[in-house]
Amino acid sequence: MANDVWVYIEHKDGNASPMSFELLGIGKELADNLGSSVCAFVVGENVENIAKEAFSYGASKVYAVEDGVFKGFRAEAYAKAASFLLDKYKPEITLFRATSQGTDVSAASAASLGFGLCTDSIGIKVDGGQIKLTRAAFGGNYTVTVVNEKAKPQITTVRPKAFSMPEKDASKQGEIIKESFSIAESDLNTKVLEFIKSEVALNLVEADIIVSGGRGVGGDDGFKMMKELADVLGAAVGASRAAVDSGWISYEHQVGQTGKTVKPKIYIACGISGAIQHLAGMRTSDCIVAINKDPDAPIFKNASYGIVGDYKQVVPKIIEKFKTKLNK
Ligand SMILES: Cc1cc2nc3c(=O)[nH]c(=O)nc-3n(C[C@H](O)[C@H](O)[C@H](O)COP(=O)(O)OP(=O)(O)OC[C@H]3O[C@@H](n4cnc5c(N)ncnc54)[C@H](O)[C@@H]3O)c2cc1C
Repeated sequence: MANDVWVYIEHKDGNASPMSFELLGIGKELADNLGSSVCAFVVGENVENIAKEAFSYGASKVYAVEDGVFKGFRAEAYAKAASFLLDKYKPEITLFRATSQGTDVSAASAASLGFGLCTDSIGIKVDGGQIKLTRAAFGGNYTVTVVNEKAKPQITTVRPKAFSMPEKDASKQGEIIKESFSIAESDLNTKVLEFIKSEVALNLVEADIIVSGGRGVGGDDGFKMMKELADVLGAAVGASRAAVDSGWISYEHQVGQTGKTVKPKIYIACGISGAIQHLAGMRTSDCIVAINKDPDAPIFKNASYGIVGDYKQVVPKIIEKFKTKLNK
């Protein structure tokens, strides 16, 4: 149906990215308000299991394009297949996660189809029959509401963890609609030769706990201590841009306006002042713990708990306490 809500499902090595199902919860809420259904769509080589999993998270139908050419993710090929489906069914709104894959496919599809696109939404609702999207602007200092009046249907990317994961119910079933669409290998400009696993052991965006270091941790030794605390807590390591620019840690760890947006349950900021560009990437964390030797550091204004002190004295004590508590 034309006013359905669609959700794009990402996957790798034959398994759905679990966080893709996050959008089916808000998708269902939107669809209920529009008097329509929430559907998932997936492009890949063999997607039957992924489709079944989408039903258990609330999709009523799954539209699928399956072909060997879609074995591994390639932006160009996936965007062409996604555009084919979106052009054929014209859902009212299509939700992608604001990940690198979601951003690639959504932008290319919107551009080729002339659909409206709002990126990085953190709120979506139906109000007076209109879909209203909320997103951060000006480095997170303002929140704006976007109404797409002309370029319809529309697409939005949604910031990971902006909405809670819907309950899983494995007994739920639905209809898989397979569409035949393929592209000759010779029509594609790119070939994936190899995937090199990222050195970031724990996915920063999906981590429940993040231990982040800034310029104040002073160098490689400081980051060794961040890693030690992260290992004890089962956390991922994040960093401010100052730490990344200093060459103490790679860009993949950067949190903030020009890095990753995260929303962990606990964000521990060590030696980070709390510049707006850093806050833009972590201020919505459930609990922020700031460790800084300057009692006037702006980070304390956003912190749930603040520890004024030198991280070299504070962090080893926290590590010891947690080692004892967690029997490590
Ligand atoms: C367009 C643009 C985009 C940007 N994007 C980002 C981004 O994505 N992410 C980002 O982080 N920044 C970003 N920045 C940079 C940002 O403005 C700040 O410069 C940066 O966040 C500062 O990093 P910091 O807090 O680690 O360093 P500083 O601001 O130098 O703060 C260091 C802190 O460590 C404390 N400290 C020092 N020694 C100790 C100690 N021994 N124990 C405890 N505390 C100590 C100090 O009191 C201080 O508060 C961006 C800037 C621009 C202009």
